[in-house]
Amino acid sequence: MGTLQDLIFRINRNAKDTKGIVRQHKIPFAISNTIRVAFFIVFTLVAFLWATDIVEYIDPFKIYKPAVVACGGWIFIAAILVGSLFIYRPWCHLFCPFGLVGWLVEKISLYKIKVNYDTCIACESCANACPSSVMEAILKRDKVIPDCFACANCIDVCPTKSITFRVGKRDKPPEGKFAAKK
Ligand code: SF4
Ligand code: SF4
Repeated sequence: MGTLQDLIFRINRNAKDTKGIVRQHKIPFAISNTIRVAFFIVFTLVAFLWATDIVEYIDPFKIYKPAVVACGGWIFIAAILVGSLFIYRPWCHLFCPFGLVGWLVEKISLYKIKVNYDTCIACESCANACPSSVMEAILKRDKVIPDCFACANCIDVCPTKSITFRVGKRDKPPEGKFAAKK
């Protein structure tokens, strides 16, 4: 499902995969993650209090088993797929319980996107090309870093080859390196 959303997102992308042909939007992480946490809480409460799995009704993975999707499920799935043209992986960012857990576990991931600030020229091409707000959060020293989907867009566009995906702690950018562009 993640790959399908990714493919749909790429349909509405320019040839260099740096921006949308029709404008694409990055929902601020504070908003998307609040919705995802709220959905997780509601989903958990409903499951424990009424023994009902609300994901069962809207589960977009059922697109691969269409005979069991109800009418409401099709409306939700269609909204996710159309939304994928304009927002990167809306199901993952806004609803997916596994996505939420994945974001938390990513904090202790061995592999991370890392920037070599000695060679970085602060052009911010990586932040612009990132389909999410991850690179921007990394460069701006945000305390909360959104989920990175390891798509490698940032690596591909960096003119100085300063970005790598490798083992180790992520360095913070030097104070003020990107401040002028805030
Ligand atoms: S790999 Fe780079 S471009 Fe892709 S989501 Fe992660 S930070 Fe953004
Ligand atoms: S694209 Fe490369 S050089 Fe430009 S800000 Fe990002 S890491 Fe630095």
